[in-house]
Amino acid sequence: MSSMHRLYENEDVSVFWDGERCRHARECVTGSPAVFDFQRKPWIDLSRAPNAEIWSTVSKCPTGALSILYNNGITIRLQEDSLRSIALDGDRIIGECDYQETDREVQIVHTEVLPEYGGKGIAKRLVYKVVEAAEKRHKTVVPYCSYAAKVLN
Ligand code: SF4
Repeated sequence: MSSMHRLYENEDVSVFWDGERCRHARECVTGSPAVFDFQRKPWIDLSRAPNAEIWSTVSKCPTGALSILYNNGITIRLQEDSLRSIALDGDRIIGECDYQETDREVQIVHTEVLPEYGGKGIAKRLVYKVVEAAEKRHKTVVPYCSYAAKVLN
């Protein structure tokens, strides 16, 4: 499997997978075989086990390739027409990740979350949403924004 970043979500949690860190140690596959299955596409299906089991399994990933956050009622949407991902608390936009696009690159230029929503991993979710979409279109992601660079390193 090639290096990539993927974001998997259900109503309650978001699971991040950084393919560059994955060493296929398979703790995930043995811990929650219904959820993690490298033979399936998508290989992670968060509907197949309780969140507590998923959380426990992700915590055992030895390389940090997998990580997990509670959604805290915040949803993330990709708005390709506006070249951004947005975070929504109900109808209110409380964060966004902006990018510009060339033939080959998606350049992340700005990521911001309202201060009162800080510390919940919303910015990470916003960045992953953009990166995942870019990688699916075979574009190179260039993180000009320092926060995005931190997420991707
Ligand atoms: S436990 Fe982590 S390192 Fe091992 S296969 Fe799963 S994602 Fe990859």
